[in-house]
Amino acid sequence: MAWRDYLRAGIAAPRLEGGVTARPHSDVFSPEKRSAVMRAVKSKDTKPEIAVRKALFALGYRYRLNVKDLPGKPDLVFPKYRAVIFVHGCFWHGHDCKRGARTPKTNTAYWTSKIARNKARDKNNAAALRKLGWRVITLWACKLDKLNPANIPIKR
Ligand SMILES: [Zn+2]
Repeated sequence: MAWRDYLRAGIAAPRLEGGVTARPHSDVFSPEKRSAVMRAVKSKDTKPEIAVRKALFALGYRYRLNVKDLPGKPDLVFPKYRAVIFVHGCFWHGHDCKRGARTPKTNTAYWTSKIARNKARDKNNAAALRKLGWRVITLWACKLDKLNPANIPIKR
Protein backbone atom coordinates (compact mmCIF):
# COMPACT_ATOMS: atom_id res chain seq x y z
CA MET A 1 0.00 0.00 0.00
CA ALA A 2 1.75 3.10 -1.19
CA TRP A 3 1.27 6.40 0.53
CA ARG A 4 -0.50 8.05 -2.36
CA ASP A 5 -2.98 5.17 -2.59
CA TYR A 6 -4.38 6.35 0.73
CA LEU A 7 -4.92 9.76 -0.74
CA ARG A 8 -6.42 8.39 -3.91
CA ALA A 9 -8.77 6.18 -1.93
CA GLY A 10 -9.78 9.10 0.27
CA ILE A 11 -8.77 7.17 3.37
CA ALA A 12 -7.28 8.95 6.33
CA ALA A 13 -3.78 7.67 6.86
CA PRO A 14 -2.84 6.46 10.33
CA ARG A 15 -1.85 9.27 12.67
CA LEU A 16 0.85 9.26 15.28
CA GLU A 17 0.51 11.05 18.57
CA GLY A 18 0.96 14.77 18.34
CA GLY A 19 -0.87 15.01 15.04
CA VAL A 20 2.03 13.70 12.95
CA THR A 21 0.82 11.61 10.06
CA ALA A 22 2.66 8.35 9.74
CA ARG A 23 3.87 6.92 6.49
CA PRO A 24 2.28 3.52 6.70
CA HIS A 25 4.45 0.47 6.30
CA SER A 26 1.60 -1.93 6.04
CA ASP A 27 -2.01 -1.79 5.01
CA VAL A 28 -4.65 -1.12 7.65
CA PHE A 29 -7.12 -3.19 5.65
CA SER A 30 -7.24 -6.87 4.99
CA PRO A 31 -6.47 -7.74 1.35
CA GLU A 32 -10.17 -8.44 0.66
CA LYS A 33 -11.30 -5.17 2.18
CA ARG A 34 -8.49 -3.35 0.41
CA SER A 35 -9.43 -4.57 -3.03
CA ALA A 36 -13.08 -3.72 -2.37
CA VAL A 37 -12.05 -0.18 -1.46
CA MET A 38 -9.83 0.20 -4.50
CA ARG A 39 -12.54 -1.20 -6.76
CA ALA A 40 -14.99 1.35 -5.42
CA VAL A 41 -12.50 4.13 -6.06
CA LYS A 42 -11.86 3.00 -9.60
CA SER A 43 -15.50 2.53 -10.51
CA LYS A 44 -16.20 6.10 -9.50
CA ASP A 45 -14.09 7.19 -12.44
CA THR A 46 -15.26 4.67 -14.98
CA LYS A 47 -19.02 4.82 -14.41
CA PRO A 48 -19.73 7.99 -16.42
CA GLU A 49 -17.60 6.66 -19.26
CA ILE A 50 -19.63 3.48 -19.42
CA ALA A 51 -22.90 5.44 -19.51
CA VAL A 52 -21.62 7.44 -22.48
CA ARG A 53 -20.47 4.31 -24.25
CA LYS A 54 -23.81 2.57 -23.85
CA ALA A 55 -25.78 5.59 -25.05
CA LEU A 56 -23.62 6.04 -28.13
CA PHE A 57 -23.72 2.36 -28.96
CA ALA A 58 -27.52 2.49 -28.74
CA LEU A 59 -27.44 5.40 -31.19
CA GLY A 60 -25.63 3.16 -33.65
CA TYR A 61 -22.11 4.45 -33.20
CA ARG A 62 -19.28 2.00 -33.30
CA TYR A 63 -16.02 2.88 -31.67
CA ARG A 64 -12.76 1.60 -30.34
CA LEU A 65 -11.82 1.93 -26.71
CA ASN A 66 -8.65 3.32 -25.14
CA VAL A 67 -6.60 3.22 -28.31
CA LYS A 68 -3.09 3.04 -26.96
CA ASP A 69 -1.25 4.41 -29.97
CA LEU A 70 -3.08 7.74 -29.93
CA PRO A 71 -1.90 10.62 -27.72
CA GLY A 72 -3.58 10.49 -24.32
CA LYS A 73 -5.23 7.14 -25.02
CA PRO A 74 -8.72 8.58 -25.74
CA ASP A 75 -11.63 6.82 -24.03
CA LEU A 76 -13.58 6.38 -27.26
CA VAL A 77 -12.29 6.53 -30.82
CA PHE A 78 -14.54 6.86 -33.88
CA PRO A 79 -12.29 6.08 -36.83
CA LYS A 80 -15.10 6.61 -39.33
CA TYR A 81 -15.57 10.21 -38.20
CA ARG A 82 -11.98 10.85 -37.22
CA ALA A 83 -13.21 11.89 -33.80
CA VAL A 84 -12.17 10.98 -30.29
CA ILE A 85 -13.89 11.44 -26.95
CA PHE A 86 -12.34 11.94 -23.57
CA VAL A 87 -14.60 11.52 -20.57
CA HIS A 88 -12.95 13.57 -17.87
CA GLY A 89 -13.52 13.39 -14.14
CA CYS A 90 -13.80 16.97 -12.89
CA PHE A 91 -11.42 16.61 -9.98
CA TRP A 92 -8.61 14.76 -11.75
CA HIS A 93 -8.67 16.94 -14.82
CA GLY A 94 -9.23 20.25 -13.06
CA HIS A 95 -12.58 21.21 -14.52
CA ASP A 96 -13.83 24.74 -14.03
CA CYS A 97 -16.73 23.64 -11.83
CA LYS A 98 -17.54 23.10 -8.18
CA ARG A 99 -16.08 19.64 -8.01
CA GLY A 100 -13.05 20.62 -10.06
CA ALA A 101 -12.36 23.57 -7.77
CA ARG A 102 -12.29 21.38 -4.68
CA THR A 103 -8.83 21.25 -3.13
CA PRO A 104 -8.10 18.55 -0.59
CA LYS A 105 -7.29 19.92 2.83
CA THR A 106 -4.31 17.67 3.24
CA ASN A 107 -1.34 17.54 0.89
CA THR A 108 -2.73 20.56 -0.90
CA ALA A 109 0.53 21.33 -2.70
CA TYR A 110 0.79 17.76 -3.96
CA TRP A 111 -2.73 17.83 -5.41
CA THR A 112 -2.45 21.29 -6.86
CA SER A 113 0.66 20.37 -8.82
CA LYS A 114 -0.65 16.93 -9.74
CA ILE A 115 -3.83 18.38 -11.24
CA ALA A 116 -1.92 21.17 -12.96
CA ARG A 117 0.20 18.47 -14.61
CA ASN A 118 -2.90 16.54 -15.64
CA LYS A 119 -4.37 19.66 -17.23
CA ALA A 120 -1.14 20.42 -19.08
CA ARG A 121 -0.98 16.84 -20.31
CA ASP A 122 -4.61 16.95 -21.49
CA LYS A 123 -3.92 20.11 -23.42
CA ASN A 124 -0.82 18.67 -25.09
CA ASN A 125 -2.62 15.46 -25.98
CA ALA A 126 -5.51 17.35 -27.55
CA ALA A 127 -3.10 19.48 -29.57
CA ALA A 128 -1.21 16.40 -30.75
CA LEU A 129 -4.45 14.69 -31.76
CA ARG A 130 -5.66 17.71 -33.72
CA LYS A 131 -2.33 17.83 -35.48
CA LEU A 132 -2.96 14.24 -36.55
CA GLY A 133 -6.34 15.26 -37.95
CA TRP A 134 -8.58 14.09 -35.13
CA ARG A 135 -11.42 16.10 -33.68
CA VAL A 136 -11.24 16.09 -29.91
CA ILE A 137 -14.43 16.05 -27.87
CA THR A 138 -14.11 16.40 -24.11
CA LEU A 139 -17.05 15.38 -21.95
CA TRP A 140 -17.01 16.46 -18.32
CA ALA A 141 -18.47 14.16 -15.69
CA CYS A 142 -20.55 16.95 -14.12
CA LYS A 143 -22.32 17.61 -17.44
CA LEU A 144 -23.19 14.05 -18.31
CA ASP A 145 -26.53 13.92 -16.53
CA LYS A 146 -27.97 16.70 -18.64
CA LEU A 147 -26.19 15.76 -21.83
CA ASN A 148 -28.21 14.35 -24.69
CA PRO A 149 -25.86 11.84 -26.33
CA ALA A 150 -27.45 12.58 -29.69
CA ASN A 151 -26.02 16.11 -29.41
CA ILE A 152 -22.41 15.02 -29.07
CA PRO A 153 -20.85 16.32 -32.29
CA ILE A 154 -19.26 13.08 -33.42
CA LYS A 155 -20.33 13.34 -37.04
CA ARG A 156 -19.20 16.95 -37.03
ZN1 LIG B 1 -17.13 19.59 -13.80
